[in-house]
Amino acid sequence: MDASPAMLDFDRFLLTVVYDLPNLIFVVDQADGTIVYANQHMCATLGADCVGRRFFELFAGAGGDRHFLSYAQQHESAPPALPRQSEYYDDESENWYHVQQRGITWIDGSSKVVCVLSEINALKRLQKDLTEAHATLAFKNRELEISARTDRLTSLYNRYQLDLVITGEFQRFRRYGKPFSVLLADCDQFKQVNDAYGHQAGDSVLIDLARLLQSNIRATDTLGRWGGEEFLAILPETTLDSAAQLAEKLRAIVAAHAFPAVGHKTASFGVAQIQPAENIKDLVGRADKALYQAKEKGRNRIETAD
Ligand code: GH3
Ligand code: MG
Ligand code: MG
Repeated sequence: MDASPAMLDFDRFLLTVVYDLPNLIFVVDQADGTIVYANQHMCATLGADCVGRRFFELFAGAGGDRHFLSYAQQHESAPPALPRQSEYYDDESENWYHVQQRGITWIDGSSKVVCVLSEINALKRLQKDLTEAHATLAFKNRELEISARTDRLTSLYNRYQLDLVITGEFQRFRRYGKPFSVLLADCDQFKQVNDAYGHQAGDSVLIDLARLLQSNIRATDTLGRWGGEEFLAILPETTLDSAAQLAEKLRAIVAAHAFPAVGHKTASFGVAQIQPAENIKDLVGRADKALYQAKEKGRNRIETAD
């Protein structure tokens, strides 16, 4: 049946639109990869002579697995009736394209593939920037998280984090009756260090002391800076006796240590075990009282709470 004049006009209209579109639009023979049609933008980009050439000669990386029109697709017996979407990076032009392909039956009855390539460099740049921004944000968040719970000078947990840990331990005690103890350590006559050697030397002593205490407690214990020259250790599953033994061990280690530029310093310790019907404040208060007694009794010693 002859096509009506109106139909022919519409075909011409479509052809003009396709020809002028700012995408790379071309038709490839499925059997041998020859380009049988290319629109204006395709001819301007890949040369006016692209029609009649093999499509895989024109696109860098053609034939490779990552190519948008794979060998298998080119040689499928039935062309893909539904549009296939993919992305393609052209090594030579360094362009990213969104690719849409659809199988059609060409004017002569043969199987062809229509390819529409839209350049998406701006989108890809945006995606890359966004991915990098996400990574930076995640890193910054992690840094913030760490700094929120860390003492800047000693890198130990700060008081905020100690409160969280002790609360967790307290809940375990209330629910399961698991015992735990706390240990308070305070550097003796620390003010003298600052007065005699300066504040920076004092800081160095605190850093050393923190490291010394940290490396001599169990991995399951939690040590933090309670304030100034005072440290708190939370000791899970530890009775008063065991806590006292640990305090005595730490006391001896500190006393034996020679702090660079400052020499020997001592510390006093107060320990307390959680009691039924008391709260965290009571517990730490009793450890603090024991520490005060250790100071009263001459320093460089440990005291256990009632
Ligand atoms: P005591 O044996 O009774 O504990 O005596 P002390 O001198 O250690 O205790 P005192 O409370 O009189 O003094 C504590 C000093 O610790 C005073 C304060 O300036 C100092 N200090 C607190 N925090 C820091 C710090 O971060 N760096 C330095 N260098 N000094 C600090
Ligand atoms: Mg002190
Ligand atoms: Mg103190």
